[in-house]
Amino acid sequence: MKNSIVPRFATCTIEHCGKPAVRALSCAHCESHLCAKHQSRQFHRCPSISEANDDEVEELISRIDKSELVQIASTLNEGKHCTFRPGKHVGDGAIMGCPNYHAWIDFDDGEKWLVRIPRSDFSSIPATLVEYFVSSEYATLKFLETTKVPAPRAFGFGFLSDPANHVGVNYLLMQALPGNPYDSSIATGNQRNRVLRQFAGILVEISNHPFKKAGSLLLDRNGAFEVAAVASHRFITLGRYGPFRTDADYFATIADQHLDLIADGQLYHTYPKEAFLFYQLLRQHNHELCSNTSGNAFFLKQVNDKGDHLLVDEEHNIVGIIDWQFARTVPACEAFGPSLLTADFQTLYSRNAGVTEADRELFRALQDLQRADLATYASSSELVRRFHIGFARGLSRDDVCEMVAGVLRLSSPRAQDMDMNLWFSQEWANDQGDSCYAQIEDLEHSSAHEAFP
Ligand SMILES: [Zn+2]
Ligand SMILES: [Zn+2]
Repeated sequence: MKNSIVPRFATCTIEHCGKPAVRALSCAHCESHLCAKHQSRQFHRCPSISEANDDEVEELISRIDKSELVQIASTLNEGKHCTFRPGKHVGDGAIMGCPNYHAWIDFDDGEKWLVRIPRSDFSSIPATLVEYFVSSEYATLKFLETTKVPAPRAFGFGFLSDPANHVGVNYLLMQALPGNPYDSSIATGNQRNRVLRQFAGILVEISNHPFKKAGSLLLDRNGAFEVAAVASHRFITLGRYGPFRTDADYFATIADQHLDLIADGQLYHTYPKEAFLFYQLLRQHNHELCSNTSGNAFFLKQVNDKGDHLLVDEEHNIVGIIDWQFARTVPACEAFGPSLLTADFQTLYSRNAGVTEADRELFRALQDLQRADLATYASSSELVRRFHIGFARGLSRDDVCEMVAGVLRLSSPRAQDMDMNLWFSQEWANDQGDSCYAQIEDLEHSSAHEAFP
């Protein structure tokens, strides 16, 4: 079921170690990639795994050949004159997306473009994967131009590795849309319902464009859209995988990759046993995810859909959907089912699983649009949302146990009052024959059990 050779993003830089580095936890401060064992304070004493800092952004901006970029933008826009304006990256008005730096291209007639530059601080993310994000997002935006889904138009992109690219960085040029990011935590009930009702209309439009495979979009040499490998996911801890022709393959492969990476010490090294059992449980309930999808049609989804991907005007009209970097075509249950947009973030990381009031509002909106088929997904099971949450940084072992309990409750109502300690010890004992068992026991003993910084 699982791979014997697990691909790695990087190898531990401690001399003679040779073990795979934990993904997404490379240290830019001392420029080290560290394995599960060497992540511990005993071996690594930097204050914390640093987020982007001003120095890094200044360095990135200094590498951009602005006159070259402005020249390209002008050529792409009928020779209109334009100027480069750096985006703020701290404080109010910050437009730093987490893995990207954004700046503006201002045309003299008032037209505005955005230039999106993947950040290139010291990390273990392979350069080819970063370039894949750029080309896939470009193809996705180009595809969206052929639909009624409101999204920025894309104008051009360049790869750092391309000798003909003199801009000095990877970049993607796109339309800058007006509006502000939607924030469900401060929206009134009426505003939220207004957004969800419009979003239902967008889902109907997306349903009109089915694909035959699950994966991320690329443009082939003839300029035709093709579904290629999936472009990682929102935490960028996976590489490229797929594409897939069936729902079952898609979900199973995602779960299997996590199981392999956890056992290999590349993911969730502070709670490997609990994380492994979480994905094993999801793997076992794969059929429940697949059973409510009709046929093997796949639909485009913006996967970083916490709500701020929707730009809204002052009346809460959706102006556009942004941030398509990890977009992919997904099974219907994922495209139209419970998502981060309709999640209740108070309960998402707890055992209190189930559809939310926002899920039900989306259900009603889809029904009102005469799309009972899509509405069924919106209110069916939260399992698909739980499948894709993943473990964000900062979660404790207890948080992960709660999330396992949540998945158990979704698949078995009798699990409500289950003794989780008993469940974990029984399940783990059942895994003794699994090839990953010894690896994870080894990780449990070798790595310090401290929470992610
Ligand atoms: Zn360090
Ligand atoms: Zn090491």
